[in-house]
Amino acid sequence: MRITLLAGGVGGARFLRGLLAAAPDAEITVIGNTGDDITLFGLHVSPDLDTVMYTLGGGISEDQGWGRDDETFAVQSELTAYGAGPAWFSLGDRDFATHIARTSLLTAGMPLSAATARLCERWRPGVRLLPMTDDDVQTHVLIADEGGRREIHFQEWWVRLHAKVPALGFTFAGADLSAPAPGVLTAIAEADFVLLPPSNPVVSIGVILAVPGIAKAVAAKTVVGVSPVIGGAPVRGMADACLTAIGVQTSAAAVAAHYGSDLLDGWLVDTKDAAAATAPELAGIAVRAVPLYMHAIPATTAMAKAAIELATELSR
Ligand code: GDP
Ligand code: CA
Repeated sequence: MRITLLAGGVGGARFLRGLLAAAPDAEITVIGNTGDDITLFGLHVSPDLDTVMYTLGGGISEDQGWGRDDETFAVQSELTAYGAGPAWFSLGDRDFATHIARTSLLTAGMPLSAATARLCERWRPGVRLLPMTDDDVQTHVLIADEGGRREIHFQEWWVRLHAKVPALGFTFAGADLSAPAPGVLTAIAEADFVLLPPSNPVVSIGVILAVPGIAKAVAAKTVVGVSPVIGGAPVRGMADACLTAIGVQTSAAAVAAHYGSDLLDGWLVDTKDAAAATAPELAGIAVRAVPLYMHAIPATTAMAKAAIELATELSR
C-alpha cells in the first residue's frame, strides 16, 4: 500500500506515529510544510520538517512535541550575551546542529529536498520526507498594531506574539512562482490514497496546497482528512486564530467545508462532533465519527486505522 500525506508539524507528526503502527508495511511519503521555514543567525530552520523527522526518528522532546529531547541552551545564551537576537525563537544546542548541518548542505548547492533526505539518513523516520518545494515560500501574516498595517513572518506572529494580535489574513509569499519539490507530484499520483492528518488547515495544509500543481494532483486522488478541531476547539495550539482570519468557523464541519468536496472524499471527526455526518454543507463527503484525541500511540493507531479503512472503502 502506498500512502501520501500533506503534513505540518506536531499534529502531522503525531498522526504519522499512529499511521506507521497501523500500516507497518505501507510505503509512506510525507509532503512537509516549509512555509514556516525561517533564517535565523544565517541558518535555515525548517520547524515542521524537523518535527516530523525528530518525532519519527525518536529524537523529539515528548513534553513539548517539538524540538530535541535532552536539550541544552548554551549557544543561545551565549548569543543573547552578545545581544544577538532574536531571543524569542527557542533554539537548543542539539537543534542548532541540525540547522548548521542543513545550511552547510544548502550552501554547498544542494536543494532542500536533497538536504532533507541527507538529514533523514541519520533519523530513519520510516517515511520518505519531502519538502513541499525547494523554492522559497514564506507564510506571512497581515496584522495591524502600533506599527500600522503590515505583514510579518509567520513565526514572528505565532512564536513572538503568540497569535494574540489578530491576523487579518495570510499570504504565502513566493508560492505563485514555486514548483513542487522533485518526487512530490509522483508520490501523489502513485499513492493508493492521500491523507490529510490533523494539521493546521491554513498555515500547514493550506500553504502546501498553494504550491502550483499540488492541489490539482491531490484532488484527483481519493483523499481522507482527519479533523484538527474537536468540539469547537483546536486540541493544542492556536489554529482557531488562523481559521478566524480566513473566515472559517472553528468546527470540524466548517474545516471540511473549507477544504470542499472537490478535494475531500472522506472526513474523520471526533465522536463529539458526530452531528457533522448530516451537515448539509458536507454533502459529497463521507463523514465518520471516531475518537480523535492523540493522547497515546494506541489511540492514534486506531485513528490511523479508521482513516485507512475509510480511504480504502472510498477508493473502491
Ligand atoms: P504545527 O505545525 O506544529 O502547528 O502542527 P500541525 O499543523 O501539524 O498540527 C497542529 C494542529 O494539530 C493543531 O492546530 C490542532 O488542531 C491539531 N491537533 C493537535 N493535537 C491533536 C489531537 O490530539 N487530535 C486532533 N484531532 N488534532 C490535534
Ligand atoms: Ca508549523
